Amino acid sequence: MSTRIKGFYKLSPEERLAEVAAFAELTEEDKKVIKGEEGFTLHNADNMVENVIGYMPVPLGVATNFKVDQKDVFIPMATEEPSVIAAASNAARLTYNTGGFTTSFAGSIMIGQVHVINLNSPYEALARIYEHKETILEKCNEQDPTLVSFGGGAKDLEVRIVETATEKVLVIHLFVDTKDAMGANAVNTMNEALAPFIEKITGGEVVLRILSNLAERRVVRARAVFEDPFGGNEKLLERFISAYELAVADPYRAATHNKGIMNGISAAVLATGNDTRAIEAGAHAYAVKNGKYTSLTHYELGENNSIIGTIELPLAIGLVGGATKSHAVARMGTKILKVESASELSGIIASLGLAQNFAGLRALASEGIQKGHMKLHIKNMAVQAGAESDQVDEIVKLAINEEKYRFDDIKRYLEIVNN
Ligand code: NAD
Repeated sequence: MSTRIKGFYKLSPEERLAEVAAFAELTEEDKKVIKGEEGFTLHNADNMVENVIGYMPVPLGVATNFKVDQKDVFIPMATEEPSVIAAASNAARLTYNTGGFTTSFAGSIMIGQVHVINLNSPYEALARIYEHKETILEKCNEQDPTLVSFGGGAKDLEVRIVETATEKVLVIHLFVDTKDAMGANAVNTMNEALAPFIEKITGGEVVLRILSNLAERRVVRARAVFEDPFGGNEKLLERFISAYELAVADPYRAATHNKGIMNGISAAVLATGNDTRAIEAGAHAYAVKNGKYTSLTHYELGENNSIIGTIELPLAIGLVGGATKSHAVARMGTKILKVESASELSGIIASLGLAQNFAGLRALASEGIQKGHMKLHIKNMAVQAGAESDQVDEIVKLAINEEKYRFDDIKRYLEIVNN
């Protein structure tokens, strides 16, 4: 089945859900969970975090037109920002006939850090740790037989000497294959269990025992060809490439450019119950890995006025662990995606980030983003201006007719509707 559905955006939420349900074989029960009618109660929330008093609903949409590694996918996106889902779907449409997105995954290796201070001879301590490498890995793996049974677990280590403001400290990097889990708890448990042994063999004192969110061994790459995005207009192609080049060269621009990527990525990460902060931290740290903050995407001109886009970033996301299985709606997110491994999910989410970024740059290089964005933001502004829900559509009509989307205009339309 294809997710290239013409006019999907014109359907009602119920009709859209019916399309997604047919695609992903959702049950009536599943649909109720997605609509928020069942499945996530105050009791569930209370089991997830502390001091619970309620919950904060965020709209859940799906991006259409995505074909990733030859499979059509609907990508669930939980976001409060208008125009994000439309933009991603629109950009993906331009890749549908050129083969969609192709991805690769470096592996699910997370890095755990064990930090050792107060060492008389840091270089000797470093050598001692390598001498005990096999024992250290064994001790780690004893902590997580389940992970080991899936072929995961601690696989290797590296020891670094880091010069801090006061002394030379040791930082042991444990490389743990966390398979289909994000792996923070798995890695942290190993790190903590290891600390007494590390103190014994180094004579130092262990302070930090936690994973690094710079998951550079969990890098995902995606590429796609965006078919003739400017209808052969060479000037606009040139402006697009120039906008991209500024993001590569200038951190002030790169921050916003990468924020555009994360508009898509964080929405899908949230929709699958993964840790948005871990993904954001990893992405931005990776963007500065060569000493200067830069773009996570690259663009090159292709044949027939097309643009070839690529993205590379770490994505520490899982299909098990954290809230991925304990949150009823997150489980639906994964069901809609029809993915069977964290690596498959990573490829889809990286593709979404690329499409999102492409859409932003395309708008910026041509008409600017405000026209499209404000049009989709009218409903929010109408509510902010005090409109009742049955007045919103009328206000949207007036704004689109006059092509005026400022807040003072919206207030004026509300007065018209009120009178
Ligand atoms: P987890 O401990 O809930 O689940 C992981 C465990 O699931 C594994 O250790 C393994 O025993 C088991 N498992 C079952 N099937 C598996 C499979 N197919 N592949 C791999 N493991 C399998 O969660 P986690 O993934 O270790 O940690 C994620 C959570 O940690 C998130 O909630 C995150 O927010 C939180 N966290 C993040 C940070 C950080 O990013 N710095 C720090 C601490 C905690």
